[in-house]
Amino acid sequence: MNYKYYKIARDKAWQTLIETNVNSLPINLKDVFSYYNINLKTFINSSDEAFIKNNTVYFNKSYNIKRVRFTLAHELGHILLKHENLTHTVHTYKNIEEFQANIFARGLLMPAIVLKEINCIEAQDIANICNVSLQTAQYRAERMQELLRRNKFKLSPLERQVHSNFKDFINSNKI
Ligand SMILES: [Zn+2]
Repeated sequence: MNYKYYKIARDKAWQTLIETNVNSLPINLKDVFSYYNINLKTFINSSDEAFIKNNTVYFNKSYNIKRVRFTLAHELGHILLKHENLTHTVHTYKNIEEFQANIFARGLLMPAIVLKEINCIEAQDIANICNVSLQTAQYRAERMQELLRRNKFKLSPLERQVHSNFKDFINSNKI
């Protein structure tokens, strides 16, 4: 997948952490959504997991909250990245916008620099601290290994700012 699109989504996640001033894990999605004046509403009686309509993100109450959190962050990614076709409800097909929304959600809920600083690199630890599913955490854990191997941290001023904003959290959560 084109690095340009990856970078846009990754940077947007850092920008979102910075401008919403959410500086601890697990990320408080209610605070993030309210910062952007996006409503959150629940529904049941459908197999859909979530969808966007009129500046409101609807999510299915019957799904596990750990899974729903990633979906909500994914939907927020579509909105903040100004993707077209926001009314879509199916996220299974592979395209640039789906790819970007997932990169955004991963970066928002599981910021790599914070996980590194508190030495939280195992999937189960990531799942616990970020309040996400083990499957989602597994993807982050694999990516963490690559980042650690290449020591690819704090190259962006955005990530350096996130690191600085999370200082208190990091100091009180070092493993
Ligand atoms: Zn999507």
